[in-house]
Amino acid sequence: MTGDDDPELAVGADAFVQQGAGLEVAVVGAGAVGATAAYDLAREGADVTLYDRGQVASGSSGRAAGICYDAFADPLDAEIAGEAIERFRAFSGDDTFPFVECPYVWLAREGDTERADAIREQIERMQENGVVALELDADALADRFPALRTDDVAVAGIAGAAGYTDPAQYTACLAAAATGAGATLESETPVGVRADPARIVLEDGTEREVDAVLVAAGAHTKQLLADAGIPIAMKPYRVQALVASGDLAEPTCYDATGEFYLRPHPEGLLAGDGTEEIEADPDDYDRAADPDFADDLLERVRRRLPDVELELERAWAGLCTSTPDRDPLVGQLQNGLYVATGFQGHGFMRAPAIGRRVAEDILGGDSIEDFDPTRFDGDEEFEVVEGMAVDFEN
Ligand SMILES: Cc1cc2nc3c(=O)[nH]c(=O)nc-3n(C[C@H](O)[C@H](O)[C@H](O)COP(=O)(O)OP(=O)(O)OC[C@H]3O[C@@H](n4cnc5c(N)ncnc54)[C@H](O)[C@@H]3O)c2cc1C
Repeated sequence: MTGDDDPELAVGADAFVQQGAGLEVAVVGAGAVGATAAYDLAREGADVTLYDRGQVASGSSGRAAGICYDAFADPLDAEIAGEAIERFRAFSGDDTFPFVECPYVWLAREGDTERADAIREQIERMQENGVVALELDADALADRFPALRTDDVAVAGIAGAAGYTDPAQYTACLAAAATGAGATLESETPVGVRADPARIVLEDGTEREVDAVLVAAGAHTKQLLADAGIPIAMKPYRVQALVASGDLAEPTCYDATGEFYLRPHPEGLLAGDGTEEIEADPDDYDRAADPDFADDLLERVRRRLPDVELELERAWAGLCTSTPDRDPLVGQLQNGLYVATGFQGHGFMRAPAIGRRVAEDILGGDSIEDFDPTRFDGDEEFEVVEGMAVDFEN
């Protein structure tokens, strides 16, 4: 498949028609974000090279759960996530990647008043912003989703613009679409970056000056930019997930009190949590799940899905990236040097929109003001906070 022969892959491109002609851009990182940005840049005529130290999707995008929804209380987050869902729907298909529509439910249990109140308030804010989200009580939830145990549920939200996909397949599809639109993919090519002027440093020390460098190197982004003398306020942290056999058609569910999520999966279901709220080293973290992670999580999943027979297939760990305010860092850091990181566990679901918007920024269009990476100095002290947690303050 190429970006040129699939008209659906043109969604959203009209806003910056051929603005990239003649522009040389290096994208560092062929994850979901970098591959999408490379695609959108190449479609607009930019001369794009997409570098990855390994293969396409060999970072977090190849280890993600693939849950997608627009259920955000903040209007900008909701707008970006909604745009991403539209693109997932438009790009998906038999020849590209599956996007399975599946309602997203999030819930708080009886006795967890703080989270229950936070969910009610979130739903109100979502509705004000045009997100299709409804509040359900335990009975309504049981009627709608018989697989779920609901007698302990205080309140649940349900969002309709939601689904799941295979993140590695999405990323491979967009990288292929980027090369189809004229980009060059350099896999197995670790690069360094330098600022002022923005340039790439290859392993043999050769430097390549370009009009713009986008660093979308996932958990390695901080390190790469530090080597260029630019500190950023981001910390990678480790999370875990598993796949188990079993029979679940819907929903995707986040149990906020139990702090875990689950979704249907072609082999049964996929579930995750196991967040370590400490900074991880992207070159030296344990890629295997902790010894008791799967037993502990499956016990909690069984409580929520009492009639589903579950058997562990596999479990693993991967990295997410956090920032002091839990909003990503997306945009220009210095002349010609751009960054996209800090997605707090929600980078995959937003990639189709973030990739497009950062491409637009590089091509001279609007930037996403609220995600301006220069809003921090880079030396801020902050705690890593789990990405999916229901936020009491907001
Ligand atoms: C277990 C787990 C479950 C998750 N579930 C979800 C979910 O359901 N929904 C969701 O939205 N998000 C989820 N996430 C988060 C999601 O994976 C990330 O936010 C997203 O994949 C980030 O994409 P990216 O393109 O920014 O980074 P990555 O996918 O990490 O891509 C960065 C790329 O940069 C490359 N790179 C690094 N250094 C260099 C270098 N020096 N030179 C060249 N290339 C380099 C890497 O090899 C890598 O391929 C999950 C994460 C994990 C670990």
